[in-house]
Amino acid sequence: MLEATPIALVLINEEEKIIYINSFAENLFFYKKIELKGQALEALLPDIHRVKPPEFWKNYFINPTAFRLGADDDLTAVTKTGRIFPVEVRMNPIDTGEMMYILVAITDISERIKSNEQFRLIVESALNAMILTDSTGKIAMINKQTEVLFGYERNELVGQKIEILVPHRMRQHHPEHRKNFYAHPKARPMGAGRDLYGVRKDGTEIPVEIGLNPIQKDGEQYVLASVIDITERKKSEEAIKKYTRQIEEKNKELEEFTNVASHDLREPLNSIISLTELLMHSKSDQLDEEGKKMLDYISKSSTRMSEMIIGLLEYARMGKSKELTRVNLDELVKTVLIDLESSINSSNSKIYVDTLPEIMAYAMEMRLLFQNLISNAIKYRNPDIAPEIAVSARQVKKGWEFVVTDNGIGIPENQKENIFNLFHRLHARNKYEGTGIGLAHCRKIAELHNGKIWVESEIGKGSSFYFFIPLLLQ
Ligand code: ADP
Repeated sequence: MLEATPIALVLINEEEKIIYINSFAENLFFYKKIELKGQALEALLPDIHRVKPPEFWKNYFINPTAFRLGADDDLTAVTKTGRIFPVEVRMNPIDTGEMMYILVAITDISERIKSNEQFRLIVESALNAMILTDSTGKIAMINKQTEVLFGYERNELVGQKIEILVPHRMRQHHPEHRKNFYAHPKARPMGAGRDLYGVRKDGTEIPVEIGLNPIQKDGEQYVLASVIDITERKKSEEAIKKYTRQIEEKNKELEEFTNVASHDLREPLNSIISLTELLMHSKSDQLDEEGKKMLDYISKSSTRMSEMIIGLLEYARMGKSKELTRVNLDELVKTVLIDLESSINSSNSKIYVDTLPEIMAYAMEMRLLFQNLISNAIKYRNPDIAPEIAVSARQVKKGWEFVVTDNGIGIPENQKENIFNLFHRLHARNKYEGTGIGLAHCRKIAELHNGKIWVESEIGKGSSFYFFIPLLLQ
């Protein structure tokens, strides 16, 4: 049995002299049995007396017990050819009744040490703090980042319980969590849903995220914890939350302001409108031509102001009752054209509509968008040519691009951005009626869909209004 065992076995007597080695030992050390017989154990383990001096052996046989010399003892073995390699040695006393022997089992651990070294290098080079703890919660290894994060020197942590890095207020329950992890060891984040903190040497706390990995090393169970400092992330999360709250409050204030202001503005305005009408109907005989003209101006201006206020209200409310639905744009544009029928006919416009897709969108707003662009294309027509308007769509990366093209008066290069601003108009009112809200609406609608709108144009030739709507999920 000894001969067949794939472990180097050496039997020594009470004088520490070798009396037998098995075949595996012969192969490992390149000695024949006969060559070693009677030699001291030091022939194979030259530094055994450094670890266990001669006095130890003198007393050992009084009460012999099995023991092990491991990697920590830094024990090496030497072959006949002079190769030196690290070993783990187990001593097993054998009492035959007449004689005492020790069976020495020698294991070459150079591979194990190499892979431990690789493991150490990987841990050391990690960008996170890495902490290896054994099954009792003792820190077995840390890397440089751990020193940086927690402000301890390596030797102040290794050998300590891991709880040294847990804030006092959480320390009490930590061993319990630790035991639970060992009971079901699997790679997972620590403290799901809880805010985790570590404590530095100077007592300050740091918010952290921790990943736990069970690891088998040298036949024992360890846990490798990877610790990330999330102070910065927490800070920016807090800042985003704060800003979002502020924006929400501001939006609400603005909405209330618009509601109140437009309500309050419309009341006196309605009085002006109705009083002017009354004046025109009942007192017109007392007014001369000049007076009637002025009254007409007042009436038109106040009506326009009322329209602007209504437009402003609509602008503020846009997207309030948001509900994304599947919108068939072919049908939607058809209904827009029906609504615009009288102005299409009176202007002699020709409108070509390509096949349009069905997309996820806010239906009401989408309708308003097409309506504004098509009615503008009719309104800003070239006085000398019959309007020709084309509506089309093409699929682009991550969405759809639509375009409404006309052969109208065009837009000056330096106005291509401004026209999308609220109340921005390029023409005198007596030339083209309008409030300057339409394109501002269009931009808000495109942005509501996370899209954008822009124009390409040439004076006297026509304009193309493009808008992009990304693919939206419900
Ligand atoms: P409104 O038409 O009520 O004036 P809009 O916001 O719809 O307001 O348009 C802003 C301005 O942009 C218009 O006053 C006009 O000068 C210009 N514009 C809009 N559409 C066109 C177009 N298709 N061709 C030329 N100019 C246009």
